[in-house]
Amino acid sequence: MPNRLENPALGAHMQPFAGIPTFMRQPASRDLIEVDVAVMGVPFDGGTSYRSGTRLGPRKIREASLMLWGYNNALQVSPLDHLDVVDYGDVNVVPVSIEATMAAITAEAAAVIQSRTTLLTLGGDHSITLPLLRAHAAAYGPLAVVHFDSHPDTWESEFGGQLCSHGTPFRRAIEEGLIDTSAYIQVGIRGSTSGPDDLLEARQLGAHILPIEAVFDLGIAAVSQQIRAMMGTRQVYVSLDIDVVDPAYAPGTGTPEVGGLSSFHILQLVRGLRGLNLVGVDLVEVNPAYDHSDITSILAANLAFEFLSLLALAKQDKK
Ligand code: MN
Ligand code: MN
Repeated sequence: MPNRLENPALGAHMQPFAGIPTFMRQPASRDLIEVDVAVMGVPFDGGTSYRSGTRLGPRKIREASLMLWGYNNALQVSPLDHLDVVDYGDVNVVPVSIEATMAAITAEAAAVIQSRTTLLTLGGDHSITLPLLRAHAAAYGPLAVVHFDSHPDTWESEFGGQLCSHGTPFRRAIEEGLIDTSAYIQVGIRGSTSGPDDLLEARQLGAHILPIEAVFDLGIAAVSQQIRAMMGTRQVYVSLDIDVVDPAYAPGTGTPEVGGLSSFHILQLVRGLRGLNLVGVDLVEVNPAYDHSDITSILAANLAFEFLSLLALAKQDKK
């Protein structure tokens, strides 16, 4: 691989309007030798129940990432100084087949994980988390999971039978033994459901639910503390559905729920994961078609930057 620092076409130092829009202008590469983090897109929205369009999420988040300068003032780290990051490109999804797409996601994710590279995946709708969890659990065993969302995504079925959708991934993952339910927390749950049993069923499956009312009653710092206490030293997978954020801040999503977090709240909650043993992250449900002034994609790019910062700090701490 060319020396990235000497490549004038790459790097976070460039002006935001210049350059090829890979994630933070990192090299587009599938050569993972000595690569710490691969940013991978999954442009798939075939699991969407309402407004589709998240297939265009990865591209838009990449474009928004060009506005990120390199230094994180809140966490006091320049992630790209500590991590070798590549933009892995996108999974070759099949728009008309969720089964074929899931198989492709699991295979691609497994290839990355086998190279000891951490995956930061940009969706795509939330159905993609199931195949991502399959690949991660195959490598690490059942995972502790921090799940930011306004929806529990633990429905038995959305469209009948065993069909998967973005409303079912976490039920399937629990059934398949991919999640260590002693350390599975859902944060920000709210909105109307089909009945009183939806959240009850999620809890019976093993999810510890912190509804939005509890998040605001406790406060962000106490919630972060609770998450860290539950996760401990386990290997943690984080799945962040952008609809956990209020549609006033993140309108670009398929199934918005009012009364959610602000951009600042979610940034603080992600920063609050500092110290956890993160083995994989996904950021899903960004739908540029319903966005305004790209504010949702800009928030998503910033959240990805926060995750990179956490991974950089973890690498620093290991030394
Ligand atoms: Mn959701
Ligand atoms: Mn979701």
